[in-house]
Amino acid sequence: MSEAVSDATLFPFSNSYARMPERFFAMLPPTPVAEPGLVVVNDTLALELGLDPELLRSPEGIASLAGNHVPEGAQPLAMAYAGHQFGGWSAQLGDGRAILLGEVIGRDGVRRDIQLKGSGPTPFSRMGDGRAALGPVLREYIISEAMHALGIPTTRALAVVTTGEPVYREQPLPGAILTRVAKSHIRVGTFQYFAAREDTDALRLLADHVVARHFPDTGEAENPYAALLERVVKTQAELIASWMLVGFIHGVMNTDNMAVGGETIDYGPCAFMDWYHPETVYSSIDQTGRYAYGNQPGIAQWNLIRLAQALLPLISTDEDAAIEIAKPIINRFADHYETAYETGLAAKFGLSEVREDDPELMQDLLARMAANQADFTLTFRRMSTPGGSPRELFVDPTAFDAWSERWRQRLAQQELSETERFDAMRAVNPAVIPRNHLVEHALTAAVERADFAPTFALKAALERPFEDPAPDAAIDGIPLTLPPRPDQVVPATFCGT
Ligand code: AMP
Ligand code: MG
Repeated sequence: MSEAVSDATLFPFSNSYARMPERFFAMLPPTPVAEPGLVVVNDTLALELGLDPELLRSPEGIASLAGNHVPEGAQPLAMAYAGHQFGGWSAQLGDGRAILLGEVIGRDGVRRDIQLKGSGPTPFSRMGDGRAALGPVLREYIISEAMHALGIPTTRALAVVTTGEPVYREQPLPGAILTRVAKSHIRVGTFQYFAAREDTDALRLLADHVVARHFPDTGEAENPYAALLERVVKTQAELIASWMLVGFIHGVMNTDNMAVGGETIDYGPCAFMDWYHPETVYSSIDQTGRYAYGNQPGIAQWNLIRLAQALLPLISTDEDAAIEIAKPIINRFADHYETAYETGLAAKFGLSEVREDDPELMQDLLARMAANQADFTLTFRRMSTPGGSPRELFVDPTAFDAWSERWRQRLAQQELSETERFDAMRAVNPAVIPRNHLVEHALTAAVERADFAPTFALKAALERPFEDPAPDAAIDGIPLTLPPRPDQVVPATFCGT
């Protein structure tokens, strides 16, 4: 890009992480690509961030999204972090294929990172090429935006560009870059990185940064670092509950993929479950089912214990005292989780409060769904629809009938009118989710034929997940709201890294 181009208004950067000490990151620009090609700019998100979507689509905008031009005010850097991957410790991870350009303050007054993912090698790349393939980039674009529309805290996707360069995985694939937006990219693994190096000064600077940025009220607490842990524990418990309630399976819940700000981050081989089963796994790299649907709350707590361990030197200079403070905080994860999950589940069942026998009643249906391969999303949506019944979704429909008698009796005990109950249920039980076979169909069209129409159609359909689409709504003949037919099932997802 020529020096004469003025792009001061492209991103009104206001950076804070770049002011941290040098050992927090490696400063370097993204690596330019052969031929930037704009796939999409997320106009809605751009406007929320106070950015001009048309400027982002201009030549210097596209060059910036591709890493060919460093926009004014950017202080590009790759963040250092460590992490437990599938339970195994890695002392040195870091942004191996991402560059934080800087931070902007949105219309809501919230500071957010602008990060390029797939922007070339960094000192943290290890054996990787620093690049991303188009398929996984579009998967993150579709699913992260779908999560947002579902009301689940998540990083967002501002733009996708192709690079005009192949990336070599099992085969050559088109390369792409995602512009990711997050409240921050600070991970449990970022704390672990400094804890492992016994760098307590850095740990304190990081914790203070996180407190100021995400949980300012905890700064007032008697022990702000214990208060920070407590808030992260509660936020994560609520986040995981919200995943469970829509059937989202993250797939790679490593500690480096858990953002302390409480957003869902690092969409890899993630997927939404079709038929309900706690052991459901999609990720092709999760051989043992460590990150199966039903394991997610337990894994989250395991990760938070790693965070607690990292924070111990800040909580108290006396390690035993620090452990005594941290332990009950970690143990409260289960309470926070149960409260969020059961309240949310009750809402899915049309119950305005959780009474003593309700958890058993609700789990009974889930067990029947598991035994009868009943579709998770559609079962609840049909229960939310006047005149609807999910019974044919069960291999043995009488398994639903028997349970539904008890449910009717329970519903009769509350004051809510039928209309009110249906409205309330339809507001929490989505009709449209990014079903794996639809996502896969969209990605295949994009990667094999540069046909982005299915991706855009799916993205548009996912913007209003709680509204019923037209009964015949479909993408290339694949019904939008129905579970896959046996021949349409996509059983495995790949990271593509
Ligand atoms: P992930 O499993 O995608 O969360 O990534 C784990 C680690 O591997 C992070 O440090 C990433 O930056 C790094 N990584 C993943 N893919 C690549 C790649 N293609 N090139 C370089 N580093 C990568
Ligand atoms: Mg990651």
